[in-house]
Amino acid sequence: MKIALIAHDEKKNEMVNFTIAYEHFFQKQELYSTGTTGKRIMAETNLKIERLMSGPLGGDQQIGAMIATDDIDLIIFFRDPLTAQPHEPDVSALLRLCDVYRIPLATNSATAELLLKSIESGDFDWRKHMKQ
Ligand code: PGA
Repeated sequence: MKIALIAHDEKKNEMVNFTIAYEHFFQKQELYSTGTTGKRIMAETNLKIERLMSGPLGGDQQIGAMIATDDIDLIIFFRDPLTAQPHEPDVSALLRLCDVYRIPLATNSATAELLLKSIESGDFDWRKHMKQ
């Protein structure tokens, strides 16, 4: 599965801890991330991640483009709801494209955990049929 990982600055520690906790799962996936998020995760796990640009410099838009070309199956995006982001339009555009293309999107660790458990138990296989 092609999974994109993104975390705003205040959420990067949580993302690192999340990927450590689910490293066994993420090892089996094809991972993409925005620049700094990927750098942090790779420094603290053994995961291999294809890093795009940093979010504020276009990384969110790059991931959005991948959604449009069917190159992303799932997004885990730990947003910081308490801090204004200079690239808020890019964030909104990314969330919008998830809805346009019905891409599963977790914006916090509780939802992400449910999605991962669902994938691990095979509950998610219906999506393969939907895409055929
Ligand atoms: P970053 O981007 O991983 O490069 O910090 C995340 C974001 O703010 O969208």
